[in-house]
Amino acid sequence: MGGMPRPSIDLHTHSSVSDGTETPTQLVRAAIAEGLDTIAITDHDSTAGWDEAVAAAAGSDLQIIRGIELSTRFEWRSVHVLGYLFDPHDAELVAETGRIRDDRLTRAERMVNRLAEDYDVSWDDVLAQSGGVSIGRPHIADALVARGIVTTRSEAFESILHFRGGYYLPHAAPTVLDGVRMIAAAGGAPVIAHPATRGREAVIDERMLEALIDAGLVGLEVRHRENTGLGRQTLEEWARRFDLVVTGSSDYHGDGKPNRLAENTTEPAALERLIARTRGVEPVRA
Ligand code: AMP
Ligand code: FE
Ligand code: FE
Ligand code: ZN
Repeated sequence: MGGMPRPSIDLHTHSSVSDGTETPTQLVRAAIAEGLDTIAITDHDSTAGWDEAVAAAAGSDLQIIRGIELSTRFEWRSVHVLGYLFDPHDAELVAETGRIRDDRLTRAERMVNRLAEDYDVSWDDVLAQSGGVSIGRPHIADALVARGIVTTRSEAFESILHFRGGYYLPHAAPTVLDGVRMIAAAGGAPVIAHPATRGREAVIDERMLEALIDAGLVGLEVRHRENTGLGRQTLEEWARRFDLVVTGSSDYHGDGKPNRLAENTTEPAALERLIARTRGVEPVRA
């Protein structure tokens, strides 16, 4: 009966470097405790958690895939691009992620200034909630929770921080085409994160998909709790037709979101195909 359990591979997790609630060390310990085979650490617009995650996994059986979730845009929509195993010193990517993080900071402060006109919340409250590397609405949400204005992050996102909630401001981000191109040029494998959320069948259209494939796109994150059912069918069909790698991941944020580690996973063969498309840094298994 049974045989070897299938390795559990989760290619999308966040630490406190961005908007996860656990440090890279705590994130790695949680993955080890759950018996995962592989996690990718994919903080928003930052690689600052890589070294700590690798160090925390030393001596365990957990494999670490070093990654990022890059903020980009297509037309007026936000598109997240996961990038795996790229060179973290690539000059263009270093400059672009720095620019995004700088603008995240001023954008968050401008949002808080607007919020402070109606709510008892300050910029210092928000800074107190952030690890200081890649700041975003989740940290504003945490400040609102700390002030007792809302009870959870999710409640804040559904009301005050919603993009139609009256306080939302966008932040700077490259186009999705530039984002994919930059990750590929840095030796990484770009994968579109949760491409079918918020009731949409897909965040990009087929024309853009073909342009992204020409620019080096490797895969689509098909199995993600926020993808719509109809969207998944479209994404599966695109993956077959264009021979793209299909991934599945949790998008774990610690206590910051209900998503649990390994609630969606990626097939070992898919991970192998993905790794074969990279030449930046190696997967790390101690
Ligand atoms: P931002 O990039 O600053 O506009 O904030 C968007 C981020 O907030 C996303 O990357 C999500 O990880 C996070 N987020 C979105 N919705 C929620 C939610 N309902 N609860 C917690 N975090 C959320
Ligand atoms: Fe996030
Ligand atoms: Fe995302
Ligand atoms: Zn994410």
